[in-house]
Amino acid sequence: MEFATWAYPWDILDEGPEQTVEQLRDIGIGEINLATNYHAVQTFSPRNPDRKTHFAHASSYFQPDDRYGTLAPTPYEGMDGDWVADIARQIDDLRLTSWTVGCHNSRLGMANRDVTLESPFGDDLVFGLCPSHPAVQTYLRALVGDLADRKEFDRIELETFDYFYGTGFGWHHQKIHAALGMLGEFLFGLCFCEHCREHATAADVDVAQARDTAVNTIEDLIAGRLPADTPPDQWLRQHPEVGAYVDVREDVLVDLYADLATVSGTTPLGYYVGTPDPGGEWMAGVDLDRIARHVDYYCLPAYESSREAVLDAYHTVDAFTSSVPLHVGLLPGHPAIHDGETVREIVDGLRRAEVPRVSFYNYGLLPEQSLDWIEAAIQ
Ligand SMILES: [Zn+2]
Repeated sequence: MEFATWAYPWDILDEGPEQTVEQLRDIGIGEINLATNYHAVQTFSPRNPDRKTHFAHASSYFQPDDRYGTLAPTPYEGMDGDWVADIARQIDDLRLTSWTVGCHNSRLGMANRDVTLESPFGDDLVFGLCPSHPAVQTYLRALVGDLADRKEFDRIELETFDYFYGTGFGWHHQKIHAALGMLGEFLFGLCFCEHCREHATAADVDVAQARDTAVNTIEDLIAGRLPADTPPDQWLRQHPEVGAYVDVREDVLVDLYADLATVSGTTPLGYYVGTPDPGGEWMAGVDLDRIARHVDYYCLPAYESSREAVLDAYHTVDAFTSSVPLHVGLLPGHPAIHDGETVREIVDGLRRAEVPRVSFYNYGLLPEQSLDWIEAAIQ
C-alpha cells in the first residue's frame, strides 16, 4: 500500500522543502499531491512558521506556458517565480502528483461569464466553467498538456473536470435560506447554456420541456410542495425528459476525457470521485464506467469518521469502477476524526480491502497530533 498527502505549495515552501521531505519520510509517506491549479480558498495552517492563513482567488501556483486560448490559469499574485518548479526541484525521490482543479474557478468565471454554467433560470453560475463550452474544453486540454509536458509529475489528478454540482461550494458568503435539498441543488446547477442546449437538441432531447421541469421542481421545493429530501435518482426516473438531458452531458465528458488521456501522454491520470456523494457522480455528468476507459485510476476522498463509513463509501464507488483501481483519501483530523485509533482502524480496513494507495488530507492543514496518528497508522 502506498501513502501520499495532499499539500499546498505555500506550506511546503514556508516550512522548507527539505524539512517537509524529512518529516514525510519519518511518517512513512512517499508522495505529495501538490495543489498546482486551485480554486479560491482560505486556509488555516496550524504548523506553518510564516503564516497562519492563505487567502487567494482561484490561482495557479506555476507559470503557465503559451499554449492557452481565451482561458488560461492566473498565476497567484503573491508568487515569486514558479512555486511548483521550486518544490519539484527540492523533494528528492518523493513522488509528486499534480492536484489539479479544472472547472471550479470563480476567477475565470467572473471574468468570462459567457463560459460559465447557466442555471435553469438563466443565472450565470460564475463558480463553475461549463465543460460543454469549446473554450473550456480547450482550456482543460491545455492545462493537462501543460502540466504533463513539465515532466515533474508521477501522476495528474483531476478535480472538477466535470459539470460542477450544486450552488457553489460556499462561494462566497453563501446565503441560502430555502430548503433546496440535494435535488434542488442539483437542478439549480444543471447547466442550460447555449452549448449544453445544442448538444441535447442534437440528441433529440426536448430541451424546453427539461428546462421547464427543472424550474418548476425548484419552485416546488422552495414553496415546500416537494420535500427537500426527495432523492435525485428516484426523481429523475419519474422525469425522463430531464434524465435524457442529463445523459447527454455524460457523452460530452467521455469525449473530453479521451482527449485528456491523449494530451497527458504517459503520465497517469486520476479523477476525484464521490461528489456530491459516493455513487452520485452522475450528478456531475460522470459515467464512471465509461470515463474509466480514459483514466488510470479513481481517487475517492472519503472524509468519514469511522472504518465502517469509509469502507461503505469505498465499496459503493468500487461497484461502479471495477475496471480501474480505486484509491482513497482520508481526513485524519477535525471535523472527521479526533483520535489515532480510528485512523489506524480505517487504514487497516483499507489495507484488507487491498486499496492500493491512501492519501491524507492535508499536510499543511493538520495539527501535529494528526501527523502522529498517520505515522502510527502506517506503521
Ligand atoms: Zn453548459
